[in-house]
Amino acid sequence: MTAPTTCEDLRAWQRELRAQFPIVTGHPELAYLDSAATSQKPRAVLDAVQAYLTTSNANAARGTYTWANRTTDLVERTRERVARFLGDTRAERSAVHFTSGTTEGLRTIARDWLPGLLRDGDQIVVPGADHRANIEPWLETRRQLAREGVRIHVVEMPYQSGSWDYDHRALAERAGPRTRFVAATHVHHVYGGDMNVHRIRRAVGPEAVICLDAAQGVGHVPLSVDDLDVDFVVFSGHKALALPGSGAVWARQERGPRFTPGGWSGTPNTVGVASLEAALDWLDAAGVERVERWTVDLAARLTEGLRGLDAYEVLGCPLSLAADSAVQRRRGIVTLRHRAVDSGDLGFVLFSHGFMVRSDHLCQGDAGERTGSVRVSLHVYNTEEEIDRLLSVLASLA
Ligand code: PLP
Repeated sequence: MTAPTTCEDLRAWQRELRAQFPIVTGHPELAYLDSAATSQKPRAVLDAVQAYLTTSNANAARGTYTWANRTTDLVERTRERVARFLGDTRAERSAVHFTSGTTEGLRTIARDWLPGLLRDGDQIVVPGADHRANIEPWLETRRQLAREGVRIHVVEMPYQSGSWDYDHRALAERAGPRTRFVAATHVHHVYGGDMNVHRIRRAVGPEAVICLDAAQGVGHVPLSVDDLDVDFVVFSGHKALALPGSGAVWARQERGPRFTPGGWSGTPNTVGVASLEAALDWLDAAGVERVERWTVDLAARLTEGLRGLDAYEVLGCPLSLAADSAVQRRRGIVTLRHRAVDSGDLGFVLFSHGFMVRSDHLCQGDAGERTGSVRVSLHVYNTEEEIDRLLSVLASLA
C-alpha cells in the first residue's frame, strides 16, 4: 500500500537526528504528528537554554556587568543569525525584531508600520483562505484607518481552484498602481502547498510591499529572502525547534517607511532568543534542504497510501500527492477527512492508537474550509514506520 521511499540515503542521518529529541525517544509508543502547531526540541536547544540560565541570565541592553553584556551580545548575535538563516545577503540594510511568534509579528507590522505606508484610496491584498493570523491584523488596520477617514480597499488574494495555490495571473489583473501591500503565506498550514511566492513580485510590480507569513516554512524548507524578493518575513521560533514565545520579524527596510516597532518594548524573551540561536544552528548543521526532502517524502508516502483508501479525502492539490509532482510542491503537511466519520472523532480515535494529530478548523480564514479536518504535520523526527502504522490504522477505520 505504501510508496517506496526515495530518501533511503537519508535514513541513517535521520536516525541520528531523531535520537536527539528526548521527548520523542522517551515515548516510542506515541507518534507526534502535530509539528505545524509546535515542534519538539532537540537536546542542543534544551542545553542552550540550561546553559544560558545557569551562566549568563540577565536583562539585555540595560546593564554594564558581564551577564548583562553577554545577554546583549546574545540578542544582537541572534538578530544577525536570523538574517543569515533567511538568506539575507545584505543584513546591514535589514532589521530583525523579536516577537512572541507569528501572530504577534504580523500584528506588530499591521499596528506599528502599515498605517504609515497607506494613503486614502490604496489597496491591500489579503489571503482570505490562509491562517487567521495573516488576515485579521490587516483588516484591523483598515478599520482603524477608516475611523480616521482614510479609505483602504481590500483585494481578496485569488486562489487556483482545486490546488489552493495563489492564482498569480488573476492577481496581476486585480493589482494596480494603488496596490501597496500584499500579505502572503510561504507554505499553507492546511493544504501543505508551497504557495509559489516568487510569482507574486511579477504579478504586483516592483513597488508593492510583500509580507510573508513563513510560520510553516522557516525550519522546514530553505527560504531565501533575496530569491523571493519579499519585504517582511515573519515566523514562530517554537515551530522551528526553539521555545514557545520566540519568534521574529525580518524587515528589508527598502520599500516604504523603516520598520521600527513603536513604544517601549520592555524586556525581551532572552531565554527564547537563546533557544532560537541554538535551533537555527542545529537546523543549519542538520541541513534544512535534507529536512525538507525527508518530510516531503513522508508526506508523499502518506498521500500515496491514502490514494488506495476511498473512505478518505485529502485536502489541497490532488496532483501534488505524487512525490515527483511538479504541479504544486506539497511540504510536510497532509490534511484529510474521513467521508463518514467526524474529524473530531477521528482525531480522538487516532490518539487512542498513539497518534497526536490536529483535528478541528485549523484557524483558517473564512474563504477556506467550511468543515473540520485532521492534519498530519511532520518534522525531521518522524519516521516511515510511523506513517505506515498510521496508514494501517486509517485503513482499519476505512
Ligand atoms: N500562520 C500560520 C501559517 C500558522 O500555521 C500559524 C500557527 O499555526 C500562525 C500563523 C500563528 O503562529 P503563532 O501561534 O506561533 O503565532
